[in-house]
Amino acid sequence: MENLHLKCSFCDRPQNIVSRLIAGADVNICEECINLCAGLLTEEANSIIQERNSENPAADSVAESDATALPTPQQLKQYLDQYIIGQEAAKKVLAVAVYNHYKRLKFLQERQQQAAENQIELQKSNILLVGPTGSGKTLIAQTLAKLLDVPFAIADATTLTEAGYVGEDVENVLVRLLQNADFDVEQAQRGIIYIDELDKITRKSENASISRDVSGEGVQQALLKIVEGTIANVPPQGGRKHPNQDLIQIDTSNILFICGGAFVGLEKIIGQRSNKKTIGFVDSTAVRLPAMPQQQIRQRLGADDLVKFGLIPELMGRLPIIATLEPLEEEALLAILTEPRNALIKQYQELLRMDNVQLEFAPDALLAIAQEAYRCKTGARALRGIIEELMLDLMYELPSRQEVNHCLITQEMVERYTTNELLFFPDADAKASGF
Ligand code: ADP
Repeated sequence: MENLHLKCSFCDRPQNIVSRLIAGADVNICEECINLCAGLLTEEANSIIQERNSENPAADSVAESDATALPTPQQLKQYLDQYIIGQEAAKKVLAVAVYNHYKRLKFLQERQQQAAENQIELQKSNILLVGPTGSGKTLIAQTLAKLLDVPFAIADATTLTEAGYVGEDVENVLVRLLQNADFDVEQAQRGIIYIDELDKITRKSENASISRDVSGEGVQQALLKIVEGTIANVPPQGGRKHPNQDLIQIDTSNILFICGGAFVGLEKIIGQRSNKKTIGFVDSTAVRLPAMPQQQIRQRLGADDLVKFGLIPELMGRLPIIATLEPLEEEALLAILTEPRNALIKQYQELLRMDNVQLEFAPDALLAIAQEAYRCKTGARALRGIIEELMLDLMYELPSRQEVNHCLITQEMVERYTTNELLFFPDADAKASGF
């Protein structure tokens, strides 16, 4: 039953006279107070930005907005830390690379006003992320784009083809970016494109997909063109180009391309190369060195290994920054459940709070979820599926069960993949769940 005694903890007005009341564990807030607070926060943020701009009028700009100063690599990394667990090396490499990329754009803008002499060529450095499925490659790229407030688009390399073949033209990736930039060409031209599954379009993976009648190498060549910088003519709504259609010109030379892939089996290639090198220095009487840990092997990854894996050297030449992501262990999966700013558990708690239900997970329940996800071998991807299945009955029933206001998820529930006992046997679980 609705609790009519609730009142806003800020203005003290009761629930029945405010427009809406959001109830927390111990405090409640009404819509009017939320709006008032939002106004105060915006005012404060604006005055900080004004102060900063007056101290440094030449503040760098990422998205051509005076209010957006270019964050330093350290700030970028700190921001990534709020959303991405682990992957320290990759976060650092990306923070530096992305900072340099946007610094280069600023340099190019300034250079337009300079004389042609004394000009240094600053080349674009696109990025390749190598790491297993569900280790955070897409998330890192997406999070950076969000922080920098630049348009972002994701494409799956396995669905792409050269122009004229069955499948999606590589140029359609640009259409998506343009759409995400609200058709602002200037903005799109400074955006970030993430191309996933690059390892599935190697020279060795011909016709890996039935939707594609083109070799992996053909797609790599088509990708190379837009990655290295070209003026592409794209149909604004995507799809195939046809005569008499208005096309939009997009210059890709300043778009940052981040490619990603799992590259299963790459360690073997790196290992073989490293062994060959050692053989040159070791005499026949030397004892065999113990096997190098996989992580150390991965850290030795070089462009040549990726060419050996099946990427064309020209494309590798355009992806000079390589960062490796590590497989996520149980401990990292556990942290991913609760620590990031938008952690899954926090999201579910927020959702249930809207139904006036306090959701709690016992520590061993969280551990059981992490263990189950680890067994799935799909990195952090499995976490969402497990929780969704676990919570389905609760999410279905709770909105019509006003008497339930506290749910405690236990390890047994996780192991049985269901929480419905909280609904159907409230008495049996009264102690544990706190009803
Ligand atoms: P990948 O691109 O490496 O296959 P994603 O970045 O798409 O993996 O990860 C899938 C989901 O798993 C993300 O949306 C995020 O919720 C979670 N995730 C993966 N890795 C991490 C991480 N290192 N830290 C926090 N969350 C992660």
